[in-house]
Amino acid sequence: IKPHQKELFGQPIGLYILFLTEMWERFSYYGMRAILVLYMVASTELGADARGVGLGWTSKEALALYGWYTMLVYIIAIPGGMIADKLIGQKKAVLYGAIILCLGHGVLVLTDIWAFYTGLGLVILGVGLLKPNISTMVGGLYQQGDIRRDKGFSIFYIGINLGSLLATLIVGVVVANYGWHAGFGLAGIVMVLGLINYLGGQKYLVQVGNHTVVENPKDEVSYGKLYGQLFNSPKHLIITAVLVVASFIGWYFMNWGYGLLFLFLTAIAALLMMIYRELDSQIYKDRFIVLLLSFIMVIIFWGAFEQAGGLMNIYTDTKTNRMIGGWQVPTIMFQSLNAGFIILFATAVAGFWAKRKLKGKEASSLFKMALGIIIMGFGFLFMVFAVMEFEKSGTSSMIWLVLAYLFHTLGELCLSPVALSFITKLAPAKYASLMMGVYFASSGLGNKVAGIIGESASDFGEYTIFAGILVFTVVVGGLFILILKPLKRLTHGAEDNEHIIE
Ligand code: GLN
Repeated sequence: IKPHQKELFGQPIGLYILFLTEMWERFSYYGMRAILVLYMVASTELGADARGVGLGWTSKEALALYGWYTMLVYIIAIPGGMIADKLIGQKKAVLYGAIILCLGHGVLVLTDIWAFYTGLGLVILGVGLLKPNISTMVGGLYQQGDIRRDKGFSIFYIGINLGSLLATLIVGVVVANYGWHAGFGLAGIVMVLGLINYLGGQKYLVQVGNHTVVENPKDEVSYGKLYGQLFNSPKHLIITAVLVVASFIGWYFMNWGYGLLFLFLTAIAALLMMIYRELDSQIYKDRFIVLLLSFIMVIIFWGAFEQAGGLMNIYTDTKTNRMIGGWQVPTIMFQSLNAGFIILFATAVAGFWAKRKLKGKEASSLFKMALGIIIMGFGFLFMVFAVMEFEKSGTSSMIWLVLAYLFHTLGELCLSPVALSFITKLAPAKYASLMMGVYFASSGLGNKVAGIIGESASDFGEYTIFAGILVFTVVVGGLFILILKPLKRLTHGAEDNEHIIE
């Protein structure tokens, strides 16, 4: 822990400030997300209930916007990280993000369609500034080699899920009684709490997230210079041309949305290549490569995991026997299982790894992440069982879903908080926030992949999709474990000899 940081339960107090800020932010994010699709498809005519009128879109239109929204909200983390690294530091970026989020959720209280789009746009910008940078700040609370960092991230992750659990439990009830816009408004009020909490806790965050003025011009982050290099040699020009063609293909064969997405992704790919070239030691170069490879795991993980809100949600609704006694468990409650399991098991999983590490047994982040993919993948075995039962008897038991979500959560705990921590260990300091942004963008791409896979269930059937994900994830996780040794070598001992640093 950095010098002069006050502690509580063996962790810097700053961690709890960030925990609470992120808890409220995630409440507003997941609360709004929970009602977004429902609001878009709700009728434009006033019904008998208190919810008020919706937008009257088809479910296809609503899901399309939802897919782009849940992707953009994380992809925008890349510019969010860049702004922090280059201009204002993480602490201010989180502050501005929180303010923009309050505005965004506030605008959504209005019923006009312009307010709807403006609100969503502001939420995307706000999350982009806040989410990656608050995560990097957690890492900034610890010195290199401090074994408490992983545990700190697990605690932080509990905050995330506490927010999401409360949101899924409360926002639906508010909407049912007071209408859609009260639900959006609640998300806004909660975000104001997050902002107040962050401002009030500044004295515990004095040493983290500051934008440092560099003394050596070599240490200055200059994206312009990096991009300039794309044109400074024939080899680079060829690369640039390939990138432009890739974006064009996206636009030509799909639509302008994909074209823009490809353009953005290829621009980022080019930036990462140029950063790699510029890194001045082989150690940093190797670590950079490991980080990028680990992002492949991240895309695959979320691509499978995020079936939760889509295909598995629909499966729960239409094919699962949800009766307990005379009561039917509402579909939406299954969405709370993940967050609930995280809160129950996060410290146990983190404690398990810490104990193994202290005993000197294999517990590298890369191993945990690969294992996380496999464990999560096994969750789909229960979905396969569910489909088999449904095909035999016309309905399937809830227990399969509970088991699937349990395995998904255990897998998530092996991968997600671990990956956050891993990035703060490996990323070159001056690009720390950018790399966190790339991590979230990878999970955003995973969200999009999840949507595409989920949609294809109408062509291939659920059995094929669930079984396919099971096999694919277990094989990929297994492959990563096979190449673990060389990968670990490339980290150059970034995780060796971790111990408690006072
Ligand atoms: N549930 C996590 C969160 O909201 C997952 C985010 C992600 O990486 N996509 O922070």
